[in-house]
Amino acid sequence: MAGKETLCASCSSDLGSTEYLRLWDGKTYCKECVGRTSARLLAYAESHDVLSERVTMTARAFVVAAARVFALICLFFLSLFVHVFYAEMGWLAVVYGVAVVAVLCAIVAAIQLPMYWRLGRISEATIEVKDGIVIVRTYANNIRFTMNLAELRWRCGNRREATLPRVGLAISGAAVLLVYPVRIACFRVPLRLACGVNDDLREVWQGFLTLARVRQLGNAGATWAN
Ligand SMILES: [Zn+2]
Repeated sequence: MAGKETLCASCSSDLGSTEYLRLWDGKTYCKECVGRTSARLLAYAESHDVLSERVTMTARAFVVAAARVFALICLFFLSLFVHVFYAEMGWLAVVYGVAVVAVLCAIVAAIQLPMYWRLGRISEATIEVKDGIVIVRTYANNIRFTMNLAELRWRCGNRREATLPRVGLAISGAAVLLVYPVRIACFRVPLRLACGVNDDLREVWQGFLTLARVRQLGNAGATWAN
């Protein structure tokens, strides 16, 4: 090695006298810096040339999201039904209301849920980082787009806030959000990419982004801090 790569990109120690790793931003770090940031990051970096995560939608997350949406819709229509018919039917309005709403909800769910499930599956993406480039792959593993790691910001958040992967039903869960400015006309709109949805990989992403000095946004995340 020559030039800059003889020094750790974090602590500037001489890599000639210590063990080191090349991380996915293309820079070289001494193992002590990597391990101090996160033991999980060190273990992952020692065995992976690419930081890669497939952001999937589990059946459990889908059922939870679907149940939440349908419960809200059912409650709305049940209260509407009871409100309209209570004066005429009394408590029977509640009984009929539950029956009517349950049947209608079952019909709508039978039509919509398979569609949402399919939409969710084909919206799954793989996020990869190698040599300072973030690559977003589609369900079929084709490259959808690439971004420079140096131009990103990041913050902790919920995958519900993500622009991508985005499915019909909002899937919840802790995530790391990679934020990237996309220009639409004269506006700069932040694209939010969910990764670190897997508990083990979340720590790897956080450790890597911290060590690589990718700028972290405040948790409110509303502003694009330069
Ligand atoms: Zn170091």
